[in-house]
Amino acid sequence: MKQFDVIVIGAGHAGLEAACASARMGAETALITMRQADVGALSCNPAIGGLGKGHLVREIDALDGVMGVLADRAGIQFRLLNRRKGPAVQGPRAQMDRALYRIAANDVISRQKNLSLVYGEVAALTSESGRITGVELADSTLIGAKAVILTTGTFLNGVIHIGQVSRAAGRWGDTPSNRLAESLNQFQISFGRLKTGTPPRLNGKTIDWAKLEMQPGDDDPVMFSYLNDVPQAAQISCGITHTNERTHQIIRDNLDKSAMYGGKISGRGPRYCPSIEDKVVRFETKTSHQIFLEPEGLDDDTVYPNGISTSLPAEVQVDYVRSIYGLENAEITQPGYAVEYDFVDPRSLDASMKLRGAEGLYLAGQINGTTGYEEAAAQGLVAGINAARQVQGMESVHFSRTNSYIGVMVDDLTTRGVTEPYRMFTSRAEFRLSLRADNADQRLTPLAIRIGLASDKRKQAFEERQSRYDEARAIAESCVFSPTELSRAGLQVRMDGQKRSAFSLLGLNSIDRETVLSLVPDLNEYSADTLKQLENDALYAQYTDRQAQDAEALRADESIEIPEDLEYSEISGLSAELRDKLTAAKPRTLAAAAKIEGITPAALSLIVAITRMKN
Ligand code: FAD
Repeated sequence: MKQFDVIVIGAGHAGLEAACASARMGAETALITMRQADVGALSCNPAIGGLGKGHLVREIDALDGVMGVLADRAGIQFRLLNRRKGPAVQGPRAQMDRALYRIAANDVISRQKNLSLVYGEVAALTSESGRITGVELADSTLIGAKAVILTTGTFLNGVIHIGQVSRAAGRWGDTPSNRLAESLNQFQISFGRLKTGTPPRLNGKTIDWAKLEMQPGDDDPVMFSYLNDVPQAAQISCGITHTNERTHQIIRDNLDKSAMYGGKISGRGPRYCPSIEDKVVRFETKTSHQIFLEPEGLDDDTVYPNGISTSLPAEVQVDYVRSIYGLENAEITQPGYAVEYDFVDPRSLDASMKLRGAEGLYLAGQINGTTGYEEAAAQGLVAGINAARQVQGMESVHFSRTNSYIGVMVDDLTTRGVTEPYRMFTSRAEFRLSLRADNADQRLTPLAIRIGLASDKRKQAFEERQSRYDEARAIAESCVFSPTELSRAGLQVRMDGQKRSAFSLLGLNSIDRETVLSLVPDLNEYSADTLKQLENDALYAQYTDRQAQDAEALRADESIEIPEDLEYSEISGLSAELRDKLTAAKPRTLAAAAKIEGITPAALSLIVAITRMKN
């Protein structure tokens, strides 16, 4: 029997990141997936990043993960979303060439030391006395490991629906993982059911592009990876069109035939990624919805119509698509569909993504009730790091709400659970002014270097970038000007006698960068990237100082660890409801306990008192 340190099941976005992280940490790792086409497959929209999601990609990259590097290689249209808003809520996004993304993913895996790719269906997990020992493939091959990471996405008991027709499938063209789902019953896991959907794909040659408004990418594209400066593939534009009253009428007339509205699906779908049926019903008064027509690749005629995912019958999809301006003759190459699948209540996991009560079993990605490639990849990274550390006999690494969006997501999932597919938003992060996409490396790369996750190339790139930033900041902070000097330079400032540093001037919207550079010519030596980050830090300095104090207070709470064996049923002052909730969530820290729905200050005081007695 072949033996590995860590086995990762599934080569989607969580699996890729988990396997590469585990291997980078030095653990002998096997990545087992059904077929080669799985590696880096973008199941739904061909795009990476966006609001909140772009932050996750930057954080993954800061930890030397793969998603940002792959996206920069395969990106065919880069756009920084929310460009006109503050830098804290701007989100890098890029459209991908599906084939290039897969090629890049296979390439990265083939070069990764300590990593073997195995094709096969995992039919069961093997264990002894609650400790994972490996997996069994559908052809009965046994493979051993000290830890296993499950990243099977929408495949557990997956069923796809097109109108009233349903069939078992993990996603279009893939069989579901029903045997594996059955094997998980040995672990007393609490499952739920969720759903998601995808739009029909169109033949780009049948779209009347000449009629449509076209949207190019940014002139100054923002990359995902700190290792890259410019896109590596040719860049394209997307088309824009809209649904209209006729489209909506066709949808309304056929709602009873939609899998979602015809009562065929019980699982809940992503509220923030509604189907076109949902949009027509929920936003009754809107007569039109925008659709982005996104080419799926440079050498691929397939077009992804972003904004019209559906589970209506195939013939109704043809009707409503052809009612849309520019799509009058469009051919559908693959119908839209909904997929319903089992997910695991993420409150059964601890902050290392390990399933409580099953030694060595980690879960990451859509299986934990999330939606999106970026959310999946970020969880995979956390699980990969911690599975490797467990095998190496080291303490797990936890991410905090104060240092990353990754920490926010893991905390939300493991303490609050999900009632609908979870996706990241900047509004979920209370410390978002300091958790920006531009400073993810400063927040996380030192950790990656410390735990042996970062390559030498990453370490060197980070140290060079950081030292340039430190130098520029020292110059900007040391050059100070009186109001008289500033006024003489043509700047309008209050004559309050207060001296202002070049750093603080960079943070003022009323003063442009060129003016500050003319006052401090030495800053001209630094790149636009370094200067941009100085501006962002200066802009938020007054707020981030306050946030730093709040974060410190939260960290102090977070540091109060609750014993894992605390019997909440024996704490007499707790209500029955809170006892149940605490027993189910088993919070590891006081901060985690505080987030449980319905928890009271009195209950927290009791927990602190009992924790102190036990310590
Ligand atoms: P996946 O990328 O699905 O990867 C799972 C992998 O596990 C696959 O490679 C599979 O072959 C492998 N696998 C499964 N079982 C086994 C087994 N037993 N043995 C070996 N290998 C196995 N995201 C959005 O953000 N917005 C959307 O609107 C959206 N819509 C979607 C619509 C559809 C129809 C689908 C399928 C997905 C959609 N997604 C959407 C979700 C997005 O695709 C996922 O969030 C993301 O791919 C999850 O990554 P993952 O790594 O968890 O799983």
